[in-house]
Parts: sequence; C-alpha cells; structure tokens
Amino acid sequence: MIEKNPNFANLSAGYLFPEIAKRRRAFAAAHPEAKIISLGIGNTTEPLTPHIAKALSDYAAGLGTKEGYTGYGDDSAGEPAFREKIAKVLYKGLVEPSEVFVSDGAKCDVGRIQQMFGANVAVAVQDPSYPVYVDGSVMVGAAGHAPKTDAGYGDVVYMPCLPENNFFPDLSVVKPNSLIYFCSPNNPTGAVASKEELKKLVDFANKNDCIIIFDAAYSSYIRDESIPSTIFAVEGAKTCAIEINSFSKPIGFTGVRLGWSIVPSALKFADGTPVQQIWTRLTNTFFNGASNIAQAGGMASLDDEGIKETRELTDFYLENARIIRDALKGENFAKAGVQIFGGDNAPYVWAKFPGKGSWEVFDMILEQCNVVTTPGAGFGPAGESFIRFSSFGHREDVIEATKRLAGLKL
Ligand code: PLP
Repeated sequence: MIEKNPNFANLSAGYLFPEIAKRRRAFAAAHPEAKIISLGIGNTTEPLTPHIAKALSDYAAGLGTKEGYTGYGDDSAGEPAFREKIAKVLYKGLVEPSEVFVSDGAKCDVGRIQQMFGANVAVAVQDPSYPVYVDGSVMVGAAGHAPKTDAGYGDVVYMPCLPENNFFPDLSVVKPNSLIYFCSPNNPTGAVASKEELKKLVDFANKNDCIIIFDAAYSSYIRDESIPSTIFAVEGAKTCAIEINSFSKPIGFTGVRLGWSIVPSALKFADGTPVQQIWTRLTNTFFNGASNIAQAGGMASLDDEGIKETRELTDFYLENARIIRDALKGENFAKAGVQIFGGDNAPYVWAKFPGKGSWEVFDMILEQCNVVTTPGAGFGPAGESFIRFSSFGHREDVIEATKRLAGLKL
C-alpha cells in the first residue's frame, strides 16, 4: 500500500472539538435528563437577516431562468463588482479591488496560503491560537519532524499571549523570514491589538523579511474606534501582510461559505516575484471561485440595509458576551480569583481560573452546570488554566447558562 504523507504523523493527537464532543456525548449518555447548553463553539446561531436572505433567494431563483443563469465566474477571485464593493465599503479605499480575492471562507484560504510557502518556511503563531494555523503548517511539512514542545514544533514557534503581556507577544522569538500568524480580534482570547501594537508587528515583519497572515475574521465586532479593523490601516503593511477575512461571523455565513483575502500588489517573495502572481496561479488551479449565490448575499451585506443588519446581528452577539462577562463577575468566580478578558470587541470571553487546569474546569462546568465551554489548553500551551466562553448562542440559552454558572462551586 501507499505510505501516508509523513507530516500527518506530526499532528498533535485529535482536534480540539472532537474531544469536546466526545466528553459531551459521554456526559449526555450518563445523564439523559440533563439539558446541555453549549457556550463552546464558534458557530453562529441566529437566522440570516432579511435583506441578505432575500438577496440569496432572489439570486438562487434567478439561476432557474435563462436570463439569470450563470456558471463559473470569469475569474476565481470573485465578481468584479463585489471586489470593488469590498475595497470601497470595508477598506474605505485602503486596498485596490485588484487586491481583493473572494474565497469560500477564511479557513480554506489559510490552507491555500500555506501551499505558497511550502515545507521550508519558518512559522510563528500566537499561543493560544485558532488551531488551523499550526495544524495546517504541520500538514505542509513546515514543522519538520521535530517533536512537539511547549515552545512549538520544529520550525513552528509559539508566541505566548498572556494577561502579563496584554496578549501582545514578544516578537524576539520569531526567526527572520517567518510566516507570522496574527489574529485580531483574537480567537480564543478576545483580545484586540491596538494601532501601536500592530505598527510594532508590521515594522518587525518589514525589518525581518517576514510575512504576516493577519486573520481579521472578527473585525466586525470591533466597537472601540481606536482599534484598526484591518492591518492595512497601519503604514508599511502592504509590503509585509496578507489579510484573511470572512463573512461567517459578521452575517452568519458559516454555512453559506464566503470570505476574502487581501493580497497586496506590493508584497514580494525573496526573488522579487509578486505574491499576488503566485496566489493567482494557485487559486486558479485549485479553486473555481466562491458560490455565485453566496457572493450575491455578500454584496447585499455591503449596501446600507445590509450594513445596518450586520451591525444589529453583531451587536446581538456582543450583548450575549456582556451577559457572560457579568455572570463571571459573580461571587463564586471572584472568590476563586477568576480573571475575565475579551468580549467587548470580540464574541469570545476568555477567563483564567488560577491554579486549575482547563480540562478540569471544563469538566466541572459540564458536570455541575451542564454547560459546554472550550478549554483554553486546546488552543495551545499558553491557554492552560483558561476557558473560552463563546457568545454565539440564542439569548434564552445564554441567560439560562449564566444562571447555572452562578451556582458553580469552584
Ligand atoms: N479564523 C478564525 C480566527 C476563526 O475563528 C474562524 C472560525 O471560527 C475562521 C477563521 C474560519 O472562518 P470561515 O468560516 O470563513 O472559514
């Protein structure tokens, strides 16, 4: 038989969410009467908003007519009018329409981006971080075959982001010529980087010939006007950054699937080849463009009505986050010294339970409150002792979960 790609042997055992699902199933089997509520996953729960839903259904109906039918787009980068609208509405002209590449989601683009750099690139990731950056790097071989340690895997280096450094990493651990994954607003910590911090990151990358993969999937949750919603608001970013983004969390397109990446024309590989040229070659080979129905929905989200609906939907989840934060300020949590972060410019609340392991707290909350959360250790070693509470949930479930949390014995 054919051998499997040896890089897969280097992945850490199991993906976080299957393990959570396993523990939830085991608990449900042992306690069939329990009404389990999830504050665990980052999946959206509320219906599509009316204006955007109508744009999807109108487009889909049109596909059933001779006049309205369309097949492959002319270009895998997306409908020209949509690329233009993203550049104008979301970036206020900070990027050119030709730098916007529409995708079927940010996760898919992380996978594709890694193929541009191959197995020999050094990688730096925030610790904790969205697991796809590390696992994707390991799959393409960037981790070599070195064993996993608390500092990273081979050429994949972890940059700890903790309350002690205000969740902004010490960049001195990053090797020159690295790909740097940076996510703000952050999943899982809910931290947002200030303009000064992003400038530090951009200056570091330019000076050390690094490329930043800036994941801005939660930028629509930023309410503090001093926080940049794009890395391209920072001077110098166009020569060192790719931004990936998504319609999943702003407008509930987690199932519809739509995202985009900004690949600046000024970004170059060491030999002077424009990154855009390789990106176009790669995506034209492996990707036939985002769904035309999804793009019609995305387009509708960027007109006045769509912008209003997007704000209302993201405000809804931010209100859930506020309810969760308030619950975590309860007496039982305060007595145990629980510290609360995030949830104001991001849909995640990140709580530290001093002296306790994350899986231990996860099990306590599941057993005593029948609430599923996400253990911070699943996002990297620096997530140990933390729990991520997701604000994606129906309001009544969030309220019920927080009532139960008030009775948690820590
Ligand atoms: N980036 C981050 C930080 C995420 O948390 C997620 C999803 O949870 C994604 C990207 C994936 O987005 P998409 O649904 O566009 O693939």
